[in-house]
Amino acid sequence: MIKITVWNEFKHEKEIDAIHRVYPEGIHSCIADFLEKEQDFEVRTATFDMPEHGLTEEVLQDTDVLIIWSHALQKEFSDAVAERVKRHVLSGMGLIALHSAHYSKIMRELMGTTMTLKWKHGEQENLWCIMPTHPIAAGIPEKVFLPQEEMYGEYFDIPRPDDVIFVGWFPGGQVFRSGCTFTRGRGKLFYFQPGHEEYPIYYIPEIQQIIKNAVRFCAPMTGERKYPENQEVRE
Ligand code: ZN
Repeated sequence: MIKITVWNEFKHEKEIDAIHRVYPEGIHSCIADFLEKEQDFEVRTATFDMPEHGLTEEVLQDTDVLIIWSHALQKEFSDAVAERVKRHVLSGMGLIALHSAHYSKIMRELMGTTMTLKWKHGEQENLWCIMPTHPIAAGIPEKVFLPQEEMYGEYFDIPRPDDVIFVGWFPGGQVFRSGCTFTRGRGKLFYFQPGHEEYPIYYIPEIQQIIKNAVRFCAPMTGERKYPENQEVRE
C-alpha cells in the first residue's frame, strides 16, 4: 500500500463562485477521488485551515507521498510545518508539488532557488512528453492538449532537475519545463505545472495518469524511513 496525503490550501474554491463550480469539494477532493480508485493507494486529505495545516508529525510519519497544491496562502503557511515537511522529504517521503505550489515555502526551502517564473492568464497548452522512457510518462501520449490553462514560462528559476519529462508550449510562444523530478536527501520529488484552479485540469484522464505514475515513482523504497545523520565508523 502507498499511503498518500493530498494537501490543498482550499481557499479559492470556497471564495470564488466560478472556481467552486469547477471544484465544488476542493481540488484535494477531486485528486483524492481518482487516486482512491487505485487498489494499491490509501488516500487522506488535509487543508490549510486544519490545526498545523493538517500536516502533523503523526500524519507525515504515516505518509509515503505528499501531494501539495497552494497559491494564495503561501506566505501565511507555518515556517515550522514547512520545516517538518522538509525533514520528512529528506528522510525519504515523496513529494509532488502541483501548479503554483512551485512557490510554496516547502518547495522554496527544498530547492534553494527563487522558484520564480513568467505567467499569463487565459492561454492554451500543448504538454509535450519529451522523455517517454520515464516511469512518470507510462501510458501518456507524446502530446496532451489542454484547451484552457494559465501560461507558465521560462525562465523558471529551479535548480537543475534530475529529469525533465514534460515541456509545456503555449500559443504566445512561451515554453516551460512542466514536469521535472528532483532528489533531496532520500526523498524523490516531482514538480508538475498543469492545474490552474479556474480550469478543470485535474479531471483530464492523462493528467490523472501522470499524477498516479508520479505517486508510484516518488514512493519511498521499502524499509524504515530515517533522517540522515553523520555516522562515525569504528573498525
Ligand atoms: Zn494558477
